[in-house]
Amino acid sequence: MFGFSFRSAKKKTAHNQKTGESQTQHQQERDQFQKVLQSFKSSRIEERLKVLDIFLSVEGHLSLTGLEGIIRAQRPELLDREFLKETMEMFCQFGFAQKQVFEAQEAVYEHHHLGMHHDHFICTRCGRIQEFANQTLERLQHEIADQFQFHPLQHKMEIYGLCASCMAQRKPALSLQYAANGEQVRIVSIMGGREVQVRLNDMGLAVGSCLEIVSNHSSGPLIVASKGTRLAINASLAKKIMVAHACRHNDE
Ligand SMILES: [Zn+2]
Ligand SMILES: [Zn+2]
Ligand SMILES: [Zn+2]
Repeated sequence: MFGFSFRSAKKKTAHNQKTGESQTQHQQERDQFQKVLQSFKSSRIEERLKVLDIFLSVEGHLSLTGLEGIIRAQRPELLDREFLKETMEMFCQFGFAQKQVFEAQEAVYEHHHLGMHHDHFICTRCGRIQEFANQTLERLQHEIADQFQFHPLQHKMEIYGLCASCMAQRKPALSLQYAANGEQVRIVSIMGGREVQVRLNDMGLAVGSCLEIVSNHSSGPLIVASKGTRLAINASLAKKIMVAHACRHNDE
């Protein structure tokens, strides 16, 4: 479910410019790369430039698997994973690309336009990566660093969660077992008889209770937090608890 990147990243990048402008920029980057390769007496320069052209034509994030897919369709003669990997690593070394490794995903490469910076939202369900740039946030980070007399060189802001389309696909109420790690939910109904209600009441839970999903992994127990207490809920009980997404600020 996490295997793709470039398809999901077909949105406008935060640093997207008018097409004409970015074409000139790409041409400049291509020329610079060619010079660097020549000065290092690199092998297979022409082929690497073809890979660069393809990479620059994709805005957003491209995994090696994604790149292979495009190469297979457009330039099958270049299809050689090791060569592609080596070339992508060269783009990174020489400052034309950046490699990003997001949790539970194949590493992705993105353009490195000098002087541009952006941060990322990563959907833990479909793997979609969205970029954002916010000057207020950037300034705030520098102010905070100042307060600590810390001199920041670089940073990465990665916000994990559910993208708009994954949220839209969700039913208004879902069984607790499908709630995502870190999510804040509210119990909307309890299935099963009186016995289930009593068990939940013993844990201090009832319809209307708010829970935070502390840990929900396929292995191990489901751990939720309610009113500052951690509760373990087994799978058969979790199935009977229907919850709805609740915004953090709603339950205050
Ligand atoms: Zn940032
Ligand atoms: Zn998603
Ligand atoms: Zn990015």
